[in-house]
Amino acid sequence: MARYVFITGGVVSSLGKGLASAALGALLQARGFSVRLRKLDPYLNVDPGTMSPFEHGEVFVTDDGAETDLDLGHYERFTGVPARMTDSVSSGRVYSTVLEKERRGDYLGKTIQVVPHVTNEIKEFLHVGDDEVDFMLCEIGGTVGDIEGLPFFEAIRQFSHDKPRGECIFMHLTLLPYLAASGELKTKPTQHSVKELQSIGIAPDILVCRSEHPIPEKERAKIALFCNVRKEAVVAAYDLKSIYEAPLAYHKQGLDQAVLDAFNITPAPKPDLSVWNDVYDRIHTTDGEVNVAIVGKYTQLEDAYKSFKEALTHGGMANRVKVNVSWVDAEVFDSEDAAPYLEGYHAILVPGGFGERGTEGKIKAAQYARENNIPYFGICLGMQMAVIEAARNVAGISEAGSEEFDHEAGKKRFEPVVYHLKEWVQGNAKVKRKSDDDKGGTMRLGSYDATLTAGSKVAEIYGSLAIEERHRHRYEVDTKYRAQLEDAGLRFSGMSPDGKLPEIVEWTDHPWFIGVQFHPELKSKPFAPHPLFADFVRAAVEASRLV
Ligand code: GLN
Repeated sequence: MARYVFITGGVVSSLGKGLASAALGALLQARGFSVRLRKLDPYLNVDPGTMSPFEHGEVFVTDDGAETDLDLGHYERFTGVPARMTDSVSSGRVYSTVLEKERRGDYLGKTIQVVPHVTNEIKEFLHVGDDEVDFMLCEIGGTVGDIEGLPFFEAIRQFSHDKPRGECIFMHLTLLPYLAASGELKTKPTQHSVKELQSIGIAPDILVCRSEHPIPEKERAKIALFCNVRKEAVVAAYDLKSIYEAPLAYHKQGLDQAVLDAFNITPAPKPDLSVWNDVYDRIHTTDGEVNVAIVGKYTQLEDAYKSFKEALTHGGMANRVKVNVSWVDAEVFDSEDAAPYLEGYHAILVPGGFGERGTEGKIKAAQYARENNIPYFGICLGMQMAVIEAARNVAGISEAGSEEFDHEAGKKRFEPVVYHLKEWVQGNAKVKRKSDDDKGGTMRLGSYDATLTAGSKVAEIYGSLAIEERHRHRYEVDTKYRAQLEDAGLRFSGMSPDGKLPEIVEWTDHPWFIGVQFHPELKSKPFAPHPLFADFVRAAVEASRLV
């Protein structure tokens, strides 16, 4: 049976709970344990799939097709354990299940209440797969005291009592603000936050204290005394140059040791940190830098493109170069020349996206990269825009467009080079969709196979002709135009195994121009950079030498 670590936060949000959870996962693995990480989100959306990236950041897609919180991306990047549908739950999901059961009559006429019906549903979620790993790390979103969070806190409190003594611990993240005037770190907000937790019946075993200044021994002792934790269990979390330093930094501060102590695991297995030492070395020992433009729509909020930025960083680590990412808003050059905005970059990445805004700008970015031999990586929407560019400007299909914008509404006459996909094969089954389906959870989601063309650039990069990648899209490049586009030089070098759905396109006479319908950024890790990102950055390095 798994041991459980519940990770909560207090004082303020954005303290890096997800990162602390992910780093702890990596450290427990380094000590030889198997782990799984989970996120419990108090918001009422059923999943983040329909939430605006401006508001909630990127949606992380799992192999089994769930649209989840971006923290699951952190978990996967740090532990290498593929996240699953059953690793993410929200109040919305819990309530909709409870209400479905109520409608079905499963509760036999009982009055349905938060305790026990909602809390039971949460506990059931926590139990899934508890015989598969040594440690289950469960992070509760938000901060203690949030109204929506209460059922989750109540559920983990109950859960820890349902389990035998010593099988669950609580780790709480707080902030120690620094008052410059008095030159002091203040512990009071932490004390209050722990009180809040205690008032709902949870006594933290470990306190992780974010601080911009070193925490003196005296303050550590004070926190331990006032918050009722052991002194060694007050762990400092300082700001880091790179998030990938977190496992080593937390180890140095004694986090993994404190967790093993709290579970009474003695003697503690020695950690093997070689992977993280290598990662550290690749971040800090670099030779040169490249400038990459991410040409997108959600550029005001970096979290909207979280995995792209991380995957580029991993690509940099693979080549031992620093990757400087610039966010370029495609909408700005929707109706003007793109060149002044894109000059000077060593490579251009056009990420995924939804809706029409900025698409003409992205098409121009693809054109600029193609004509100037700049490495171009188009991902999902970025591939679709590259195909439209090829169709319009090279293959002579001047009215080329996508049904996503040029629309089913019949806005203007156009050739739907990209069409609304309504039927595809998943495993042995056919999946069907209609134009007026719900927006939530109805895309082509999750891991699908693709077959690569022997001798193509992508086959060489992957070193294989069979790949599996994660998808999240509703529209698809139409094979009706394949011959015309291939004659123009745009090779369809990756297809779904049945040959119906284009997965990859590449310009044959360009140093590096690849569009993929899937999301390789979701599978990249600092210790295992995705081959496409590693090679894209390599091409950027080459381009930088030509300037
Ligand atoms: N909007 C496009 C589609 O649904 C692309 C999606 C994406 O980039 N993830 O096909």
